[in-house]
Amino acid sequence: MVWRLFSILAVSLGLSVVKPSPIEAQSSKSSLALLEELTNAHGPSGFEGPVRKIMRREWAGLVSNLETDGMGNLLGTLKGTAEGPRVLLMAHMDEVGFIVRFIDDDGFIYFNPVGGYFDQSILTQQMKIMTPKGPVIGYTGMKSGHSFQGDERNQMVELRDVFLDIGARSRLEAEDIFGIRPGLPITYDADFRDLNGTGRYLAKAWDDRAGLAAITEVLQRLQDRSHPNTVVVAATTQEEISGRRGASVVYESLKPDIVLNLEIGVASDFPLLTSPKEAQGQLGGGPSLFVFDGSMLPNQKLIEWIMEVADRNGIDYQFESVSGYGEDASVLQRSGRGIPAINLGITTRYAHSQLGVVELTDYEKMVDLLHVLVMGLTEEQAAAIRDFDS
Ligand SMILES: [Zn+2]
Repeated sequence: MVWRLFSILAVSLGLSVVKPSPIEAQSSKSSLALLEELTNAHGPSGFEGPVRKIMRREWAGLVSNLETDGMGNLLGTLKGTAEGPRVLLMAHMDEVGFIVRFIDDDGFIYFNPVGGYFDQSILTQQMKIMTPKGPVIGYTGMKSGHSFQGDERNQMVELRDVFLDIGARSRLEAEDIFGIRPGLPITYDADFRDLNGTGRYLAKAWDDRAGLAAITEVLQRLQDRSHPNTVVVAATTQEEISGRRGASVVYESLKPDIVLNLEIGVASDFPLLTSPKEAQGQLGGGPSLFVFDGSMLPNQKLIEWIMEVADRNGIDYQFESVSGYGEDASVLQRSGRGIPAINLGITTRYAHSQLGVVELTDYEKMVDLLHVLVMGLTEEQAAAIRDFDS
């Protein structure tokens, strides 16, 4: 908060606001290129192929044993100077989206949600249906403002009644010409944008492509460093649907000793429908340490150690505690004989809507934090985190 006030003051005085960068400066340009490519890729739960293709290309030269398991998770290993501890860095490839439910006689498309939505956010959006014939653009139409009656203007349209207009004149045309059928994936049709030179960026699917990009940059940094552990990585599938199904089989392949899960944090630093009583994330506040979420309680010694490492390295961080939130680390935590795990968030505004806003410095600080955490995770440190008796 102190830094935030200073920034506002400095901006109003016309000063250049560059916070001292911890550890090492990373090329923002390459970070942005990766973030742009990943957030523009279309991959709702169960249809992560386009994202996996990018991740496979990015990780191919960075890890060994690059493989896909039976759920479509992409897995890899980067051996350091020791076999253990095995440190898992994990983020999910899928994004919130929709799946075609049925096509009505007039060629309008109805859909089921993949992920949690505020129904009001789905109306009047441009979307893309991925078909075997290629992408089909559609629009979630609504009644014209000219024809509202009484208080109709204040009523909400529920998701089950929202439809996509693809221009088809009949079901037959939607099926035969466009290649639409029930079960095909739909995502928002939106592109990555620089938000007016503010260091903030507008894109869909920050959740969780920002996490995948951060892991990739950490792997790049670790290439010429000797880290006292073995890093294992997982880009998971089907996180946005209940059961976090991709992550549920990751333990079987990677057998981690410590889990650092990368996710989005939930911003509450904007005026509408939000309160710090419900979510605490602030853009520019640094990585979020989730002290609680609806799916798990993190290991307490792991939190304490991360705070200490961040403090020592001058990396800002913030705390988050969000009950309506779940994530993949909760599944790994309960695998094997139980694994110390934590969820770390890159704060995002407007998550689970068409677009979100992220501040690049939060992403860069997350890469810095992950890097120093991996460098510090010795067998001795991991044993201290796992020790419940002292
Ligand atoms: Zn997520």
